[in-house]
Amino acid sequence: MIKIISSNLGYPRIGEKREWKQALEQFWEGKIQETELLLITKVIRLNNLKKQQEKGIDLIPVGDFSLYDHVLDTSVMFGVIPERFDYKGGKVSLDTYFAVARGTKNAVASEMTKWFNTNYHYIVPELENIQPSVTENRPLSFYQEAKEELGIDGKPVLLGPITYLKLAKIQDDVHFEKLLETFIPLYIQVLKELEQAVVSWVQVDEPIFGMNLSPQILTFAKKAYETIHQAVPNLNILLQTYFENVVDYKKVVDFPVQGIGLDFVHGDALSFIQEHGFPHDKVLAAGIINGRNIWRADLEERLDVLEQLKQIVTNKLIIQPSTSLLHVPVTKKLEQEIDPFIYGGLAFADEKLAEIVTLTKALDKGRDLVKSALKDATESLKQWKDASFGKNQEVHQKLENLTDTDINRKVIFSERIKKQKQYFQLPLLPTTTIGSLPQTSELKKVRTKWRKGHVTTGEYEQYIRDYIKKWITIQDQIGLDVLVHGEPERTDMVEYFGEKLNGFTVTKFGWVQSYGSRCVKPPVIVGDVSFAKPMTVKEVVYAQSLTTKPVKGMLTGPTTIYNWSFVHDDLPRKTVLNQIAIALKAEIEILEESNIKIIQVDEPALREGLPLDRNKWPAYLDDAVTAFRLATSSVEVDTQIHTHMCYSNFEDIFEAIDGLDADVISIETSRSHGNLIATFEDNTYNKEIGLGVYDIHSPRVPSIEEIKQNINRALQTISPNQFWINPDCGLKTRNETETIEALQTMVDAAKIIRKTALSYQK
Ligand code: GLN
Ligand code: ZN
Repeated sequence: MIKIISSNLGYPRIGEKREWKQALEQFWEGKIQETELLLITKVIRLNNLKKQQEKGIDLIPVGDFSLYDHVLDTSVMFGVIPERFDYKGGKVSLDTYFAVARGTKNAVASEMTKWFNTNYHYIVPELENIQPSVTENRPLSFYQEAKEELGIDGKPVLLGPITYLKLAKIQDDVHFEKLLETFIPLYIQVLKELEQAVVSWVQVDEPIFGMNLSPQILTFAKKAYETIHQAVPNLNILLQTYFENVVDYKKVVDFPVQGIGLDFVHGDALSFIQEHGFPHDKVLAAGIINGRNIWRADLEERLDVLEQLKQIVTNKLIIQPSTSLLHVPVTKKLEQEIDPFIYGGLAFADEKLAEIVTLTKALDKGRDLVKSALKDATESLKQWKDASFGKNQEVHQKLENLTDTDINRKVIFSERIKKQKQYFQLPLLPTTTIGSLPQTSELKKVRTKWRKGHVTTGEYEQYIRDYIKKWITIQDQIGLDVLVHGEPERTDMVEYFGEKLNGFTVTKFGWVQSYGSRCVKPPVIVGDVSFAKPMTVKEVVYAQSLTTKPVKGMLTGPTTIYNWSFVHDDLPRKTVLNQIAIALKAEIEILEESNIKIIQVDEPALREGLPLDRNKWPAYLDDAVTAFRLATSSVEVDTQIHTHMCYSNFEDIFEAIDGLDADVISIETSRSHGNLIATFEDNTYNKEIGLGVYDIHSPRVPSIEEIKQNINRALQTISPNQFWINPDCGLKTRNETETIEALQTMVDAAKIIRKTALSYQK
């Protein structure tokens, strides 16, 4: 008989009410000391473990917890600290840890970028001039902690060597092989100690196998795992993949490890197994419950899949979520205010673990044992399918009547831009910002009070107007050319629209970690999306009334709204995207009628949503581009459409970016150290573009020299006639003083460079 047990891959770090975030931020503000931070976070960590234990999870992950990011944790464990942080070897201090993540007065932070196709960000390891060594055995200490404090025989989690090095953006295979040779002995050292501690299983995360890797890299990977196996033959290693099919399934399942973890939600692992089999000597860890959405699963259907696996696998079967639960909120039990119908369909991390336990019992001991849980799930699903809830015929009609003219601007860019230049009369190298301005704690307090009814809507709106007025004055004084209203009315760029469009609902505590202590609360799409009422017009029109400079209208694009929402799983992606686009189009038309002539439609999440498997890219990009064009194409020739994207690696989606047909794009650049600029050497891009000239994720104010350098570097390849000057991203997480100082420096730099810029012209 095969043995069936339940497991988890990772649990949300942030606590039910974001206690983790509060502790971190208090520490950074100097309000609590290190010992207190460590104590508070230990309580959170143990509580997370205890919950999994009480739910009845057999194999509980340990070491998945982090004070910032698990990729940074891995770097720190191996002493991989960039030279500029003056690290002298030995255990890395907490100050250094946060310095690498956030930057200091003297040293810029390491680059941060998105973790596969999620909205979680990791700190990119910098592997130049390093002498790595094991500075601490993190997984071991977390394993021991769980054992001593709670009697849990946990499953230490490590980021695997192939994924770690690939995430460091090592392109060249020879270099990759060298680094792998350096790191494998260190991994072995860590694993040996785990072997000695007699841990039952170690989870080695290798999501990179969901991507298209070269045969070279796969050969190195196989060799690496062979070396590891020879060194720790008695350690049970579970090679864990997620987010996608294992592209080279046949090769990877033959690696000498004791277990393989596959994702049975994203991609098609079942048919791979049916076609190619599964090695008899290995344990299969089946990621059967979706770790990326917030919906209850169809348990009967999932059981059918598991039954099939049970026939194929001869060894042990581990039942688990498809990914770490890091990407979903903690518990639905706090959502008492949500529509009961929707509540019934939800499953956050805790509820997903309960589903795992139910499935494990059913598969092990028969469905009868958990009859009522199964019945309950089936009924809830049926209710969703039958309900008229959220259905909107009119929207479907509109979608059916779309034609090509709906996705094309009236004239091509080269014609439009002439009209626009004439209309706006902006100086060379126009300066602007990305949209949001500092959200002070006072602003957040007023908003909370208003939400609780302690401040009237009139008072709140007056507060927002005062904020806008103050910042329009500041921007005018600084000398920016295109202004923004500052987005003070928005907590979050997606949630704000979610609250106003039909088809959405919002949760109260549905937070997930985005980067560092920053959490986002994705809205929830439960039905057909449509325009209900103007969403942004009042604030922007007010801002425009205060200045003669153009103020940008500011919207979030369809793909970003989609990717940063939890979308109900019975709605087809393309349909939802186009529904959002049609709703945004209505908003854009009202802005235009109200004389807002520059409208920015942000798509920061376009890149991150790319499927891991490149074969699936064209379809994804096509849908994203169509939806963007559908939203933005109806405007007049001299209305200027802007878009904004965060984070680099744009070279491979260049065509799609061009295809958006936005008149101006601003892109985050400064942390990727000019890599992006090289892209423009190889590609012709005729539209206008602003490459972020300073990093906004770090509290550090840039020097004028630095900014000038960044601009000059860009002007080596991009014509000054098409170049804009702006920060990397929105400024809402920064404070007022540092923002004013940084923007003034930016504008000063622009003014200096303008004098000579035309001499750069190619
Ligand atoms: N307009 C948004 C802001 O400035 C864009 C944020 C983003 O790119 N993530 O905050
Ligand atoms: Zn951005």
